[in-house]
Amino acid sequence: MDFNDSPQEAKIREEVRAFLSQHAEEKDINAEEEGMMSMFEEEGSDEQFSQIVTAAREWQQTKADAGWACVTWPKQYGGRGGSILENIIFSQEEAKFKVPNTSVFMLGIGLAGPTIQVHGTEAQREKFLPRILRGEDIWCQLFSEPAAGSDLAGLRTSAVKDGDEWVVNGQKVWNSGAHYSNWGILVTRTDPTVPKHKGMTYFLVDMNSPGIEVRPIKQITGGANFNEVFMTDVRIPDANRLDQVGNGWAVALTTLMNERMGIGGGFGMFGGVGLVRNLVKILETYHVNGQLAIYDSASRQRIASYYSRLKALELTGNRLMSGLAKGGVPGVEGSTLKLSIGLLMQEMAAFCMEIQGPMGALVDENAFAHGTFQQLYLGIPAIRIAGGTDEIQRNIIGERMLGLPSEQRVDKGIPFNEIPTSARVA
Ligand SMILES: Cc1cc2nc3c(=O)[nH]c(=O)nc-3n(C[C@H](O)[C@H](O)[C@H](O)COP(=O)(O)OP(=O)(O)OC[C@H]3O[C@@H](n4cnc5c(N)ncnc54)[C@H](O)[C@@H]3O)c2cc1C
Repeated sequence: MDFNDSPQEAKIREEVRAFLSQHAEEKDINAEEEGMMSMFEEEGSDEQFSQIVTAAREWQQTKADAGWACVTWPKQYGGRGGSILENIIFSQEEAKFKVPNTSVFMLGIGLAGPTIQVHGTEAQREKFLPRILRGEDIWCQLFSEPAAGSDLAGLRTSAVKDGDEWVVNGQKVWNSGAHYSNWGILVTRTDPTVPKHKGMTYFLVDMNSPGIEVRPIKQITGGANFNEVFMTDVRIPDANRLDQVGNGWAVALTTLMNERMGIGGGFGMFGGVGLVRNLVKILETYHVNGQLAIYDSASRQRIASYYSRLKALELTGNRLMSGLAKGGVPGVEGSTLKLSIGLLMQEMAAFCMEIQGPMGALVDENAFAHGTFQQLYLGIPAIRIAGGTDEIQRNIIGERMLGLPSEQRVDKGIPFNEIPTSARVA
């Protein structure tokens, strides 16, 4: 395992830093606490949100003009044709500068764009990709349903052909950003008479279409970042179907593979390690300042355990990076990292609240460290569910790393509408 940049990687890092220094100010490395909790924050007003999007769009366009908007996208679609590792280097360096947060474009750039590149027609690529690259559209992912999350192939939202259009009915849930998105990637069931993986079709849906109702879900943290999306007789032109009728599962797998590989940006594997590192740092700062009394041996042992687990995470992350540098793709290390980061952060947040004594129960502006740890404690379960739950990560580790027998699949080969269920049959 090599911890240092290769000469080529060092050159890219230098280029990235030159670009960033030209457009933004470098952050104070001691102020890492700032912005750490943004993913769990309460939503601001519409006006504040619109300012955030305007700033994000300007920054996205500056990156696009310099060829840094979508590092891994092929050059023919406006990308840089770079590797995953180059993308990680860009994200690592970008995180050190004061630049607008472009996470509203994450699902477009990370999921919709790559899926359209692989499965889209030339007309679809020309229509959608440049707008995604420049942050002109905001995309959401309409996959999960009340009875289809881990088992996504069990989805029931139906699409029925009517002339040159499809008529869609059903409900999606947990759709991040659907309330401010203007496009969505949608998987539907078009044939319930064949086994579940074979009867699905994938669409690009205009979120302003009549019949789409988006209802934000209030979270325990106070924010409302994700939604329920109800679709009643929504008409989608056949021109917005991605790939063949019945091939939706293969298209969805392209999206899901990109979701897993979405390291480097947002809450990716390295972002997660970074968060744990920040937490250790904050704990240390408050302790040194005498604001937290962590003198008893039991507490010291726990902090030492967090620190050593953080180091193990960093080394696993480095092993993954090293593999990527040699041309590999992220493997089971990704599952071990995601599982460990979520568990570790939850434990640390609970510990940080515990050592505050009665103050640990406060969540408003009177709370210690502005309630950072309390917010974190409430928000972490989302991390342990999104992108594959803890249990699903354990299944992956068990089957692919430890060679344990795979799960029984009682619905294999059975037509979807003959699988026993308590839910409505599509
Ligand atoms: C922050 C966040 C953002 C999200 N954003 C989006 C989005 O933008 N678009 C979208 O479509 N979805 C989104 N989701 C939904 C997410 O993909 C699902 O929540 C996730 O796939 C789990 O599905 P579920 O909630 O239906 O739980 P279920 O799959 O019903 O699982 C319930 C419980 O059963 C366990 N379980 C299920 N299957 C197995 C198994 N085979 N073996 C062992 N245990 C199992 C699970 O681990 C879990 O504990 C988001 C979720 C979160 C938390």
